[in-house]
Amino acid sequence: MSAGVVVLGAGQAGFQLAASLREGGYADPITLVGEEAEPPYQRPPLSKVFLKGGDGPESLSFRPPSFFERHGIALRLATRAMRIDREAARVLTEPGGWLSYDRLVLATGARNRPLALPGAALENVVALRGAEDGLALRAALARSRRVVIIGGGFLGLEVASSARAVGAEVTVIEAGERLMGRAVSPAVSRHFLEYHRSRGVVVELGQTISAILGEARAEGVTTTEDRDIPADLIVVAVGVVPNTELAEAAGLAVDRGIIVDHALRTSHPRIHAIGDCARFPSAHGGGLTRLESVQNAVDQARCAAADILGKPQPYEAVPWFWSDQGERLQIAGLTADAEETVTQGGPEAFSVYCFRNGVLIGAESVNRPADHVKARRMLAGGERPQRAAFAS
Ligand SMILES: Cc1cc2nc3c(=O)[nH]c(=O)nc-3n(C[C@H](O)[C@H](O)[C@H](O)COP(=O)(O)OP(=O)(O)OC[C@H]3O[C@@H](n4cnc5c(N)ncnc54)[C@H](O)[C@@H]3O)c2cc1C
Repeated sequence: MSAGVVVLGAGQAGFQLAASLREGGYADPITLVGEEAEPPYQRPPLSKVFLKGGDGPESLSFRPPSFFERHGIALRLATRAMRIDREAARVLTEPGGWLSYDRLVLATGARNRPLALPGAALENVVALRGAEDGLALRAALARSRRVVIIGGGFLGLEVASSARAVGAEVTVIEAGERLMGRAVSPAVSRHFLEYHRSRGVVVELGQTISAILGEARAEGVTTTEDRDIPADLIVVAVGVVPNTELAEAAGLAVDRGIIVDHALRTSHPRIHAIGDCARFPSAHGGGLTRLESVQNAVDQARCAAADILGKPQPYEAVPWFWSDQGERLQIAGLTADAEETVTQGGPEAFSVYCFRNGVLIGAESVNRPADHVKARRMLAGGERPQRAAFAS
């Protein structure tokens, strides 16, 4: 019998890959190896509803444990993959020893970028990635009045919104001149700046942290403008780094992500990489791209599963993303390289259509879900709409 598929990483992409293989009729063994103790679960609620509510981590699970038994998916949880032996087609796990594979899928995700400052390891300086972090942050929020969030990207702002909703005094410190600056248009940044400020969040732009104050516990931060901001809790949300070490040690091509082709194959034909850890040739602009989104993890998993099932198809899914910060932001396409934008709608609900070379490349919708769905459809179509078709 074939050794089957071994998936390293039991997160969004790893779970979907295993499920899609079984859906597609894959009959050989599937083993899902994950270093976290929980069965596969969704991360998005962690910065949103989970922080404000009282549900346990089981509320986040994709499927109950019986799903994995019923579908013959062996879960090896609290198990870390340590090394890939490509020659012998096997992986060293801890605990568990060697695991042979016929096909290997790397779905190792990303981890939070650490803050390189003295004091960053203090107990009340926290980050959010997994369910354990979510539980710890929720408990910390319940006993903290003043919260400083370092980083004004999607994650930092979602945590800011949730922390405010449970009554904390919140300050967000962002190094860039605008919020979510790497990912959205200036109009959307402005809208969310005004929105968060209107809810009482203090937002400091164009500043970073030069020091974390306090010895036994963090008591605040010093900004690069030399201003001290007191805090009972500091949340670090300064981006992530892809987990590529296993791939690199195995001699696979790695450059700011595990390099894959249109079918999500790495430089070794029996090994795929999917989700946050993979850098792929995007069919939607931007050259080699690495995305951190549920859509990307799910659609890449489906695409890699199809390849393993002998039905290869290029990965061309339209990228889309959402962020819930009290107001709902939805993004279709990759909008970072836009040369021109057209805004439709009013101050409370609007969409920013983004163009490059006079052609639609994406849309950012604030409280306009119908526009988002329509934009995804337009981007998926063969003929991209021209700028002239959009009234200013
Ligand atoms: C708080 C939060 C909120 C988010 N909100 C949104 C949102 O609103 N919208 C959206 O589109 N996306 C959101 N995302 C992003 C989305 O959750 C990720 O893009 C998605 O989970 C990526 O899936 P993945 O499987 O690639 O990685 P993950 O889901 O991170 O899974 C990777 C898994 O691999 C494990 N692993 C790593 N190395 C090893 C190893 N050596 N051995 C064994 N296991 C290993 C990790 O522990 C992890 O469990 C959010 C993410 C976070 C953290």
